[in-house]
Amino acid sequence: MSIVITGATGHFGNRVIQELLKTIPASEIIASVRNVEKANALAELGVEVRHGDYMDYESMKTSFEGASKVLFVSGPDSDNTLRIRQHANVVQAARDAGVKHIIYTGYAFGETSQIDLAHVHMATEYAIRSTGVSYTFLRNSLYSDVFIDESLAGSVAAGEIVTNTGDGKLNAVSREDLALAAAAVLTGEGHENKSYNLVNPSPWTFDELAGVVSEVSGKQVSHKKVSFNEMKDYLGNVGLPAPVAELIAGIYHSVATGETGKTSNDLTNLIGQPTPLKKLVQQALKV
Ligand code: NAP
Repeated sequence: MSIVITGATGHFGNRVIQELLKTIPASEIIASVRNVEKANALAELGVEVRHGDYMDYESMKTSFEGASKVLFVSGPDSDNTLRIRQHANVVQAARDAGVKHIIYTGYAFGETSQIDLAHVHMATEYAIRSTGVSYTFLRNSLYSDVFIDESLAGSVAAGEIVTNTGDGKLNAVSREDLALAAAAVLTGEGHENKSYNLVNPSPWTFDELAGVVSEVSGKQVSHKKVSFNEMKDYLGNVGLPAPVAELIAGIYHSVATGETGKTSNDLTNLIGQPTPLKKLVQQALKV
């Protein structure tokens, strides 16, 4: 059995490989990467590294040769139509290389999501379905790492977390837990033609996050609720480029509308309970 992991130099792909190495030999793992030098550490672990660029169908097809399974990690490009073209290349290459099972990292409850990036993931899911190749859709939640990282120390110093999420709930899961779920699917059986919404079964609000940050840091931190436009201005004032500010405020808005409050047991069925909110905050604040 050979499993190819794309985007293997990224945080998620690399994390999945580290998990796989705990249960299967390195000789069964192939890293498909656009920058081979960046994957030196993986090569040193005995993982075969192949060149594969989502922009280049031929390189992807070559990197998939002999693979029984491919974990196709979605690309990070912010241009959605470009990303759909890249993803179509990857899907076509997997089909033409004779891959038996494509496991794709999509977006949780993508079919009802209002955020633009969800359409990229749904377009990719349909492209994969159109090949007739067996699939598993790992529809990842938003990464909790995006909201709970070292920048929380700044919120502690300021005494406030500023968002336009209102009272909306967030079903975010850490990248690490999502990587565990991907590894479980890659090494497990019976996942063909299934879609999993990999979300937190206990979504939290930013009021609750502020409460946990207060408890962990020992300093009172509140959640300051602002409007979409105020959020964009706030992010612009702290130096983020306008398109990034728009994207983040848009994601927060999707939280406010209730889109990210949906739950599912798909993640717990694969890995058990995800890392609790308090532990994530402790890790982010290094306490
Ligand atoms: P990441 O650390 O940015 O890794 C992205 C990976 O994609 C890197 O290995 C990068 O290669 C590779 N890549 C970029 N363009 C490529 C191309 N043209 N051909 C081949 N590989 C290419 O992101 P991550 O944290 O691992 O997350 C994985 C994916 O999840 C992202 O790409 C994005 O689609 C999605 N995402 C989800 C969330 C969420 O909240 N659920 C948040 C952010 C991103 P290099 O190392 O050479 O750059």
